Amino acid sequence: MALIVQKYGGTSVGDVDRIRNVAERVIRYRQQGHDMVVVLSAMSGETNRLIALAKAVNPEPDLRELDMLLNTGEQTTIALLAMMLKSKGCDALSFTGAQVQILTDNAHGKARILNITGERIRSEMAQGRVIVVAGFQGVDAQGNLTTLGRGGSDTTAVALAAALGADECQIYTDVDGVYTTDPRVVPEARRLDRITFEEMLEMASLGSKVLQIRSVEFAGKYNVPLRVLSSFEEGEGTLITYEEDGVEEPLISGIAFNRDEAKVTVSGVPDQPGIASQILGPVSAANIEVDMIVQNIGEDGTTDLTFTVHRNDHDKVMGIVNAVAKTINAKDVKGDRKIVKISLVGVGMRSHAGIASKMFRVLAEEGINIRMISTSEIKISVVVDEKYLELGVRALHTAFELDEGVNIN
Ligand code: ASP
Ligand code: MG
Repeated sequence: MALIVQKYGGTSVGDVDRIRNVAERVIRYRQQGHDMVVVLSAMSGETNRLIALAKAVNPEPDLRELDMLLNTGEQTTIALLAMMLKSKGCDALSFTGAQVQILTDNAHGKARILNITGERIRSEMAQGRVIVVAGFQGVDAQGNLTTLGRGGSDTTAVALAAALGADECQIYTDVDGVYTTDPRVVPEARRLDRITFEEMLEMASLGSKVLQIRSVEFAGKYNVPLRVLSSFEEGEGTLITYEEDGVEEPLISGIAFNRDEAKVTVSGVPDQPGIASQILGPVSAANIEVDMIVQNIGEDGTTDLTFTVHRNDHDKVMGIVNAVAKTINAKDVKGDRKIVKISLVGVGMRSHAGIASKMFRVLAEEGINIRMISTSEIKISVVVDEKYLELGVRALHTAFELDEGVNIN
């Protein structure tokens, strides 16, 4: 017997039949004697619908009131599931985030969880009840309703699992686990039985959208075993956990990619102290996140600086950097919005040399020019032209033996 937190995403509760499926699974677990806490998203499309409504009132709606509105999405599904459970003879109670005191800061739209006491949940659970909690929402110290950012129900589930000391946090979604890469790009992509928190963080931050990044950080920090599974088919899903001693990790666990990149090159920059900060300072002051940064070795007293940003920020950054370029006497500023980033991720590369050179060779054999490179302990990323994304990812997937059917032992 265990305490299990299950989270169901929007498609899993998209209509009454699906809510019935959820109820039936919860009841099966309950009948096995497990204590159950169920966290729900709003029905798929509902949060978008509410945001559109708010924007029809004001293109930039008041954030407190927007959170008030968005809180209704999850309130609908929890009530429906609790009704469904009760009508099937399973004792259950639904709660909003505020009702179970999911205390957050007051950053409306992207609030962070500060504390969960879990008292009410524990005492109701002790009475044999299934607890159904609205995901994605909380309450600040003044009693204002907040939301945790898009996809935030994952974080609610993990935070509750941590606060309650759950044995496992199961995230039910419309895919049956975490894949080596996006199966829409590589049909041979394989479901991973397990992946480490670190790898999952890299995969998530690199644009693999299975889990909200914050939920993975949280799970890693509090060591909550996290499992991603399909709510439509039975299966083991993917377990996200710590590296285990004695378990040989695969060299490469997955290939992530990001299509939302753009790069900016400032050339002919005087090669002197403070230049990088003069160029990048105003960019970060404008709240624009810079990803990769590469500076060349100076020649004739000048150098080039290239960096990448989100594609949506490209035009704004060009404006900022063009202005700076004048004041520092840089020769030229060029932007390129048709680039993508491809990354190999794997904790196994810590202890193995030659991964990078193999990656570069594979890309070269496909005639793909690498524009930028960056590495970390468990990741190698390259920037290439957008048109090579599919070709590059497929070639790497095959070369690193990630394709379905390949024996990795
Ligand atoms: N309903 C929210 C969203 O669509 C939260 C979630 O589904 O996790 O972003
Ligand atoms: Mg989601």
